[in-house]
Amino acid sequence: MPIATLLASTLLAINPASAGSVNRIDANNRQITVSFDDVVEGASTFSLIGPDRIAIDIKGGKAGRGGSASGMIKSVRQGQYDLNTARIVFDLDRPAIVTGGGFSADGRSLKLSLSAVGGFGVKPTRKSFLPPVKFRAEPPKNTYSVKVPLGRPQDKVKLPKIYGPKDSSRPLIVLDAGHGGHDPGAISPHGSQREKNVTLAIARAIRDRLVAGGRVRVALTRDTDKFLVLEERYGIARRMKADLFISIHADAAGSQDASGATVYTLSEVASDREASKLAARENKANIINGINLGGANRDVSSILIDLTQRETMNVSADFAKLLHREGSREISFRRIPHKFASFVVLKAPDTPSVLFETGYLTNQQDVNFLSSRSGQAKVAEGVASAIEVHFARKLARR
Ligand code: ZN
Repeated sequence: MPIATLLASTLLAINPASAGSVNRIDANNRQITVSFDDVVEGASTFSLIGPDRIAIDIKGGKAGRGGSASGMIKSVRQGQYDLNTARIVFDLDRPAIVTGGGFSADGRSLKLSLSAVGGFGVKPTRKSFLPPVKFRAEPPKNTYSVKVPLGRPQDKVKLPKIYGPKDSSRPLIVLDAGHGGHDPGAISPHGSQREKNVTLAIARAIRDRLVAGGRVRVALTRDTDKFLVLEERYGIARRMKADLFISIHADAAGSQDASGATVYTLSEVASDREASKLAARENKANIINGINLGGANRDVSSILIDLTQRETMNVSADFAKLLHREGSREISFRRIPHKFASFVVLKAPDTPSVLFETGYLTNQQDVNFLSSRSGQAKVAEGVASAIEVHFARKLARR
């Protein structure tokens, strides 16, 4: 028989692809608490007698140093058992087992309850310690820390280049090509077209048309295949004090028959089920593997709108009507061309904003139109002429 008898228990928490270092250990007669600087994959424990010890193997863990011990725990040691496993050993003055425990909600600390076995000073026989406990614990799934090299919205996102006249009194239009980077948006049935590429091509075409017109200034939230969270998109428009923000998208539908463009503006209450489902889909751009990269704990399905935003919303709605009027010479719209829903990207309180769904990537005619240079030029012509009329009207009203 080996000197040490393997006694007890297993504790498992599955947490893929992460590594946390042990940064604190507290242990007393009743409880062991191990804290990590990041989420680990899981932990398992076993007890040994003669000498009496408890060991915890931390999968996906990096060993730190030391730890505080009291009561029946005489000392704490830790070391790297293998590349992916940290082992923590507690030296005991009597045999004890782990009777339960689990990870905290944020997955960054592990608490285990302890129980001494047999009377103090009584060396137990192996038989009396057949595995008494077998339990599993998993941290809540939505706390998994997935390493996403994206970060939260930052005020410091670099402001984009402004194209057009070098005259700051000219209206500034910020065009936002929807999606980008790891977020492709809608994809055409055979995968030949991705929304993120189509929206960028259209944004560039509108920019070029506006620059050629020479009346307004224009900037793009992104001019490369990069990801921005929704707050960064309208944040850019706000920080640049834009006069108009247009987020460009292309939709997908279950039916290949659905076709045509729709202009959306912000509202707490969606025009219909379809609009509300679309907003929920577009708002998901902020969420990766359950982690909301945008504002903390925001319920993206509903948005409370400040009263001060009403005026901005009216201007947005006027522009939406104009975009339909001017655009329909070049672009085919849906039967109801202007709808409302609660899109996060339209939430800037002081920048009139519309979200333009230019058509359906799931419709053959639409996808041919939107992915061709000539189609993109037509969309650009429609949008640019709406913009020019909008600001000409504003100027006339002064
Ligand atoms: Zn989209």
